[in-house]
Amino acid sequence: MKNKFTITISDVKGSRHYTIDEILKRIVAVFLIFVALLFAGGIIYITVLNYKVEQLDIKKDELQNELNDKIAYYEVIKEKIDEIESIIGIAHEADDNTTHEARLSNITLTTVQQSLLLQFIPNGEVTPHNGISDRFGMRKHPVKGIDEFHSGLDFRTPLQTPIYAPALGIIEYAGSSSSGYGSLVIVDHGFGFKSYYAHLDKTMLIKVGQFVKKGDHIANSGNSGISTGPHLHYEVRFLGRALNPINFVNWDLNNFSQIFEKETNVQWDSLLEVMSILLANKQNPQ
Ligand SMILES: [Zn+2]
Repeated sequence: MKNKFTITISDVKGSRHYTIDEILKRIVAVFLIFVALLFAGGIIYITVLNYKVEQLDIKKDELQNELNDKIAYYEVIKEKIDEIESIIGIAHEADDNTTHEARLSNITLTTVQQSLLLQFIPNGEVTPHNGISDRFGMRKHPVKGIDEFHSGLDFRTPLQTPIYAPALGIIEYAGSSSSGYGSLVIVDHGFGFKSYYAHLDKTMLIKVGQFVKKGDHIANSGNSGISTGPHLHYEVRFLGRALNPINFVNWDLNNFSQIFEKETNVQWDSLLEVMSILLANKQNPQ
């Protein structure tokens, strides 16, 4: 038998003997447990860190998306400002450092000009009505029964419904017409625009040559001419050509530039250029 180095520990419970092997085994066991704990702790720590990194990535993506949305939104606003400026004739160079706030305030100033323009060119409703009974364009004529171009917009109106001028103008015609229009009023608004009101009550409220402004009561609806029932036939003409009146009925200060895209038979750019000089009371540079 080999000699073994033993350690004896004595206390109140008695004496215990430990050989060096046992002590070494215990130290190794404790060390292994320590290493295992350290390893487990490390894994937990790395998992937590990974989770946090993932969360940060998600947050980063969210912020990036938000930023992209904001940039897109800003670009739309910038384009709108460019568009409105070009419509109302404010020159803006690409290298101009004017802030967007200042550019917006310039546009707001010209809102006055816009509302003035809406005094000249037909816009808005012309009569309180019960809906549209016939639209502008090709249709089967309700009386003749054949396909025919309908040059105006028909509003359902009881007899004697007041009709108001949609813009400033001069009465060019007021009386009965030989065509199917029956009693007819024509208003010349200038700048090439005229408006027609047909199938009216035969009593005329205004005279040829009389100037009217937007909102003036110019006629009452009736059922004269070729008509299947009381209604107002409303036309907007430009240089004699009938335009779709719905674009003019829907036109106001809140959607000021909408008509420039919808009605392409009018050279709006040149009209607005001339109007902006007129309304700003500026001298033509020449
Ligand atoms: Zn009609």
